[in-house]
Amino acid sequence: MPTNPLTVPQRAAGLRWPVEPGQGGWYTSAEHTATQKVMADSDDWRTGWKPGAYCAGFEGAFAARMGARYAVAFNSGGTAMEMVLRHLRLAPGDEVISCALNFVGPHIAVIGQGGRLVLTEPDPVTLNLDATDTERVMSQRTRAILVTHWNGAVADLRPFLDLAAAHPHPVYGPPVVIVDAARACGGITPAGARVGADSEGWATVFSFESKKLMTTLGQGGMVTTSDPQLAEHLRLLRTYGGRAQWGTNQMLSKAQAAVGWVQLARLDEMNDARIDRAHERTRALADVEELTLPPTLDGRRHLYYRHNLLVPEQWAGERRYELMNTLADRHGVGSIISDPVTYLGHGLIREHTRGQHCPRAEQLAARLLCPVLHPRISAEDEAAICDAIRQATASTARTPAA
Ligand SMILES: *Cc1c(COP(=O)(O)O)cnc(C)c1O
Repeated sequence: MPTNPLTVPQRAAGLRWPVEPGQGGWYTSAEHTATQKVMADSDDWRTGWKPGAYCAGFEGAFAARMGARYAVAFNSGGTAMEMVLRHLRLAPGDEVISCALNFVGPHIAVIGQGGRLVLTEPDPVTLNLDATDTERVMSQRTRAILVTHWNGAVADLRPFLDLAAAHPHPVYGPPVVIVDAARACGGITPAGARVGADSEGWATVFSFESKKLMTTLGQGGMVTTSDPQLAEHLRLLRTYGGRAQWGTNQMLSKAQAAVGWVQLARLDEMNDARIDRAHERTRALADVEELTLPPTLDGRRHLYYRHNLLVPEQWAGERRYELMNTLADRHGVGSIISDPVTYLGHGLIREHTRGQHCPRAEQLAARLLCPVLHPRISAEDEAAICDAIRQATASTARTPAA
């Protein structure tokens, strides 16, 4: 098995369907109209592009929709996560616990803000942070538990909120629960609340990057929280510290806010279309016995940012790559490993977490396979993709192991 998953060749050229959709949330005439209106509105030297009411309006609508007291917009999910962690003023040795099977962004942010990243195993079914393994690594130095709603499978935060309450830090009290909801915007939690609601963790970070479930012209982010001090501090951090403390410019633009406002109104409709498409695919592949299909969580709880499949244990690594190549070369179907274990896929994280190993995460990541899924793939194309997955899997099953 290649040691660094990033070195695996991406056979993107000549694919009929790309390795992943470049676009998540899609636009209608309403987004186009909103953009034109902002253009016209900003073409006045007195007002220009100051975000003002647009940004505040988008934040207000977002907070109301998610059931949060505050929402603070940022220019990306990455900077938003960085600033949430900055608020904790992590001292050397302060620990932040997070699942090893993750996007690299939140892990780099922990390291960037001076924390010690403590990696944990995923739950084998949902691939979300495992509560039992989290309890194992909780210590007097734990400042935060960072839960990522993995690939749209909305996690149950209760166990983590309970763990935090049961293991108070000697100086700061209970560790905070920070939620990475970049892939789960609009999700409903097992408690029946929206992802990002006040009851669902101390701070929730969203991304509106191009591939995400809703997008603000390709980049953007948001934090929801019920903590007035965090909300106030985040507002200062994104605008040069309010002339009193450190800060920089991390504002969402006026046009992005205007489009985000429209996307928010269409979020459930877009998510529903995605869920329907994912359920169709799960049904279509139900009898392919080699493949473990995404968990059948209640449709409202799994948003299927990815439709992630798991190949058999014996196929982990090399034969999984073979299957990906067959899909690409013979059928023109792109697929992606979303995502490799962060410490194997990123040098800085590997260096920082030297000595930490998550064998279950490594094993699951070596079995992961996410063929391209998007609600706007036509029904005919979707049928062809399902057929390709079926044929390529059968062909890999027939190939004797090397
Ligand atoms: C996209 C993503 C981010 C980062 O968001 P950006 O807006 O691209 O900076 C963080 N975490 C996860 C899980 C993501 O998918």
